[in-house]
Amino acid sequence: SRRSVTPNSRTNSGSDYEEDRGRVRVAVRLRPKNAEDIILDSDFADCVELQPELKRLKLRKNNWTSESYRFDEVFTETASQKRVYEVVAKPVVESVLNGYSGTVMAYGQTGTGKTYTLGKLGKDDASERGIMARALEDILASVSASDCVEVSYFQLYMECIQDLLAPEKINIPINEDPKTGEISLPGASVVKVQNLDQFSQLLQIGEANRHAANTKLNTESSRSHAILMVYIRRSVHEKVEDGITSWEKVPRTTLSGSNAIPLIRKSKLLIVDLAGSERIDKSGSEGHLLEEAKFINLSLTSLGKCINALAENSPHIPLRDSKLTRLLRDSFGGHCSARTSLIITIGPSARHYAETTSSVMFGQRAIKIVNMVKLKEE
Ligand code: ADP
Repeated sequence: SRRSVTPNSRTNSGSDYEEDRGRVRVAVRLRPKNAEDIILDSDFADCVELQPELKRLKLRKNNWTSESYRFDEVFTETASQKRVYEVVAKPVVESVLNGYSGTVMAYGQTGTGKTYTLGKLGKDDASERGIMARALEDILASVSASDCVEVSYFQLYMECIQDLLAPEKINIPINEDPKTGEISLPGASVVKVQNLDQFSQLLQIGEANRHAANTKLNTESSRSHAILMVYIRRSVHEKVEDGITSWEKVPRTTLSGSNAIPLIRKSKLLIVDLAGSERIDKSGSEGHLLEEAKFINLSLTSLGKCINALAENSPHIPLRDSKLTRLLRDSFGGHCSARTSLIITIGPSARHYAETTSSVMFGQRAIKIVNMVKLKEE
């Protein structure tokens, strides 16, 4: 059964992040201070106190300090891109290489490092590469010539899905397989990826298109969700030993008896750069801006509601309320083996206090989600 699969390529990501499969793993990353933080907040203490060795964090305001909140990992401002990838995304990537769906999401206030964490290309300095580039690098290194790796890249803005690789395609519908419930976007471009350079070019094209689309609509990219979907198709052999199923790349000639069954495994990795979590002030918004505020709130609010409902094991999970949550359906238990990591990015300064608190609380609710549940949707 799928539940008993042991990943065969478990190289170490080296942390207890590995344990507890089936739970949504949540990490927090603090952005380093920038010039603005230093100028604007010179008299104030930071709004968080990190205890990375305990994987805990406290919120601070003036002379008050909150209780400490535990996460799967707490990254200080000096954490490297490599370490963030290895702890947050690598276990998900390994699981995807073994045939399960996986999701890595970044949530936080605009300017706290979501795009840096996920989308940074590191053209001049490979150590700066973010999760998308590192994931593709690992995936391409693990698959063989007969396997297939493809990507779609799109943005979700005002409940409209726009292809970032073919920006003339707007309003792409979501397809849901009536039998398996599997979500796909048949209208979106799907591009075969053969090497990392080619993938970097695709991401660059996507970013340029995102920028152009947002300039045209007179909005900011921080208000749209950018979603990279990676499809992997591998021919693997399932090996059953002592009741445990593992997957191996075995040359056909060495196959013995009924022990090994050739299979094509399809899996999907989603990397989601969510819109800024800051509340948009509706009071001063009119017309288009008000519509926008409402829609952005629709997707993010709906994500928040689903996370609350899942955390509370509620009988009703309102996944159908927005496109974002429909797309993320598999990430929250559509399949019992789906793996999901959430990285909460926060700013260091006192002026970030309210938004930081709200992001930390969002993460605290998400950490309660156990992914094994069969979803009870309405
Ligand atoms: P967001 O996507 O959340 O709006 P960005 O990723 O665009 O935020 O980050 C805002 C700025 O802060 C960028 O200039 C980015 O390079 C910088 N930044 C964010 N996180 C880090 C980090 N961990 N180390 C160095 N610079 C960072």
